Amino acid sequence: MKKYFFLLLISSVLHLPVSFAQRSGYWQQRAEYVMDIDFDVNKHQFKGKQKLTYYNNSPDVLDRVFYHLYFNAFQPGSMMDVRSRTIMDPDPRVRDRIAQLKEDEIGYHKILSLKQNGKPVKYEVVGTVLEVELAEPIAPGKKAVFEMEFESQVPVQIRRSGRNNREGIDYSMTQWYPKMAEYDEQGWHAHPYIGREFYGVWGSFDVTIHIDKNYVVAATGVLQNPQEVGHGYENKNKPLKRPQGDKLHWHFKAENVHDFAWAADPDYQHTTAQVPGGPLLRFFYQAEANQSGNWDKLPQYMVEAFQIMNREFGQYPYPEFSFVQGGDGGMEYPMLTLIVGNGSLDRLVGVATHEFIHNWYYGILGTNEALYPWMDEGFTSFAEDYVFNKIMGINSPNPFKSSYNGYFRLVQFGLQEPLSTHADHYNTNMAYSIASYSMGSIFLRQLSYIIGEEAFRKGMLDYFNTWKFKHPTPTDFIRIMEKASGLELDWYKEYWIYTTKHIDYAIDKVVSKGNKTEVTLRRVKEMPMPIDLHVTLNSGEEHIFHIPLQIMRGAKKGTGKNYHVEADWGWVYPTYTFELPFSTGDIRQIVIDPEEYMADIDRSNNTYPADSSLDARGK
Ligand SMILES: [Zn+2]
Repeated sequence: MKKYFFLLLISSVLHLPVSFAQRSGYWQQRAEYVMDIDFDVNKHQFKGKQKLTYYNNSPDVLDRVFYHLYFNAFQPGSMMDVRSRTIMDPDPRVRDRIAQLKEDEIGYHKILSLKQNGKPVKYEVVGTVLEVELAEPIAPGKKAVFEMEFESQVPVQIRRSGRNNREGIDYSMTQWYPKMAEYDEQGWHAHPYIGREFYGVWGSFDVTIHIDKNYVVAATGVLQNPQEVGHGYENKNKPLKRPQGDKLHWHFKAENVHDFAWAADPDYQHTTAQVPGGPLLRFFYQAEANQSGNWDKLPQYMVEAFQIMNREFGQYPYPEFSFVQGGDGGMEYPMLTLIVGNGSLDRLVGVATHEFIHNWYYGILGTNEALYPWMDEGFTSFAEDYVFNKIMGINSPNPFKSSYNGYFRLVQFGLQEPLSTHADHYNTNMAYSIASYSMGSIFLRQLSYIIGEEAFRKGMLDYFNTWKFKHPTPTDFIRIMEKASGLELDWYKEYWIYTTKHIDYAIDKVVSKGNKTEVTLRRVKEMPMPIDLHVTLNSGEEHIFHIPLQIMRGAKKGTGKNYHVEADWGWVYPTYTFELPFSTGDIRQIVIDPEEYMADIDRSNNTYPADSSLDARGK
């Protein structure tokens, strides 16, 4: 999702070989969906048949399974409705709108029948979750085939999915089918849908959609019958063979994904662009959104952005990716994003960049977005700010500044909650947003400071290559970074993710000692960090004195004769004293972390001589 800061107080496995070893004993379930969907554009309803082959790769016997029925959230009195009306800072897109929906505007999934291996099973719909008692337990290493018939109504668009979005896109079809909940080493994840994000079973989708022939469909996967469909998918050198009748059937297949989304509108224009060494990009938008030519310009930016991501964050593995006008902001799905399309070019490129990068952090590295929202939103925001800064030619030395400012604001307002909070359970939308997006991004930038840029870059690529098509956890990520850097980093994860402790370091004393200078640093707040102390001499010469944390059992590598590694600092000691090999008179300035990597909540005490132009943060 695109970050959306709420205006509370501010105005503002299995199929692909892996080249690295992941955690030993790791396993994951697999789901193979075959769906046939018959869509009625007059009633906004569809009939569905779903055959799901489910592989239990866990060491456990399963006697129940759970499906998500997301459309049921869009009914008055649903958990999403009540949560949206009672949270302190409601999402303006939702507020009390669900409560106002009429019978023909709500969303629903009605389960008509469900069989396991040909035998009927007992099931119960509980809000947005279908609880299923199995006819026979699924043993470890065995599979079951579930056959379901269902009927659904597409809700008026309130949040993410729905019909008739505010820009006039007919169908944003996301979280639109009964979807098996994920079971992993932490058990079932059948959480009710109240508005946050998702977690799915790795597998494949084979989906056929029968819909009015005037509609253009964009979807996850690759279209299997382009010559029967046309609408910009066809090979122009081959004859188009459209069947008779009022409907076309669109047959899509996707491999190694954990969700399937689509959109349909009769007015979509459809263009393409090829990324060198990468996927074919597709763009779907209405003429109105392209009045100022923004959607004509978007492909060139996205081709460059994909190349940067492929090179620096890992090679995108699928053959295609689609940018689709739809939804209610920006939302990520495998091989596809729905984005609003009418705004300025900057905004369009910004949201498109954020959402396609989610295919790395969410799509390919399939982290649990409910438990670890900072791993998808934060990592995506980090790469987005980095890539956007390049493709737009901004070239700021610190493109992450707004994330830090958001974090400082959250601390100032006293609303901070630990990043380990379940996404649904934050007290405010603001705390969720800033924790997930801003603090998740800062987590990475600070890490590049702690271990050094080279180890960080290597680690990000190792993380991608080790954990692609899997479900990495925070510990899996930090272990990759420990191996890439040779440093112990558990303390960093513990402080930044599981606590609300803060960073504040100060230059406490500077004392002249003949031709040397004694400097005392102080850790003012709780969270320990290694220190880069920059010293500028009157001659203009610059030196970096690096003070490692003892608990890291090593120091980051630096380069050049002006990089000095000092004795390490044991975290219990409030102060640290050492000597600079310069006379005090030769020193122009001493600064802790002038590039502002650390989210130091009070920078007024980071400089010698004291810089009176700097106000204390958070005051
Ligand atoms: Zn996002």
